Amino acid sequence: MYDVIIVGSGPAGISASIYVKRRKLSVLVISTKNSALEKTEKIENYYGFEKGITGKELYNNGINQAKNLGVELINDEVVSLKFLENFEVETINSKYEAKAVILATGTNRNAPDIKGIKEFEGKGVSYCAICDAYFYKSKDVAVLGNGNYAIYEMEQLKPIVNSVTILTNGSKIIENRHEDLQVIEKPIKEVKGNNKIEEVQFEDNTKKSISGIFIAQGIASSSDLARQIGARIENNNIVVDENMQTTVPGLFACGDCTGGLLQISKSVYEGALAGLSVLKDIKL
Ligand SMILES: Cc1cc2nc3c(=O)[nH]c(=O)nc-3n(C[C@H](O)[C@H](O)[C@H](O)COP(=O)(O)OP(=O)(O)OC[C@H]3O[C@@H](n4cnc5c(N)ncnc54)[C@H](O)[C@@H]3O)c2cc1C
Repeated sequence: MYDVIIVGSGPAGISASIYVKRRKLSVLVISTKNSALEKTEKIENYYGFEKGITGKELYNNGINQAKNLGVELINDEVVSLKFLENFEVETINSKYEAKAVILATGTNRNAPDIKGIKEFEGKGVSYCAICDAYFYKSKDVAVLGNGNYAIYEMEQLKPIVNSVTILTNGSKIIENRHEDLQVIEKPIKEVKGNNKIEEVQFEDNTKKSISGIFIAQGIASSSDLARQIGARIENNNIVVDENMQTTVPGLFACGDCTGGLLQISKSVYEGALAGLSVLKDIKL
């Protein structure tokens, strides 16, 4: 049995593991190696890298730092979380027990199955409004999604870009409390352009010119594990208190999966706090 199991090896999970391990507790990090960081071409807004750093490099640096401190990491997918006498974490390949668990599963930014989206990643397709909005200053952009997350991303973009249209790709928009919300609910056929995105083409062959599209589809899967064990979820984010503890004693969460600012600095901070809170929480 481990003292602590951490699900996720992005900035939140690794930061938590470092704080736990340095206090000589046994810690296992389980992850599918699919951090949002790995999709990030260049990071210019994180402290300490004068020329910026690629997401992949920052991710690998974190993993190596944790390994050098003796953190055990395995590559596996967690499918279930239960509490019996201890926490039981089930992966595709095995089962593990721990006194405490930290969820650092990020948020679900899967690319939608629309022709052109994958091809234009980094060339007009973005997964993060707060990161990339300035590249679209005074331009016409779209947000793909139909829920609260899409509306949140639209709000981040609005003060910077010329116009934002929400494209729901055939779904109904979740709400319409913004008077000036521009929404197109038609199914999308493809996104097109030359070197960069230039337009969205709909199934009915109408078109809309845009310079960028921000993907903000539902984030349900990041909260699934918390839901399974009965932790409270609000707007698809795991609810935590000021110590990063969820509504289930001994279960903590940190990083993108708790919502708010989806940035590395916030994930690192919350990971540190979750790690320190676990140390106080479990009986040594
Ligand atoms: C394209 C893009 C550009 C960005 N640019 C910036 C930027 O410039 N600056 C900035 O500060 N932030 C940026 N971000 C945001 C930043 O990458 C995230 O805020 C940060 O990575 C979140 O860290 P995290 O540890 O919470 O989650 P993640 O980094 O997403 O890590 C989640 C971890 O959980 C694992 N996981 C999930 N589910 C399971 C499961 N069931 N079983 C096992 N493992 C699981 C994943 O494999 C992964 O290891 C960007 C994000 C994207 C997508």
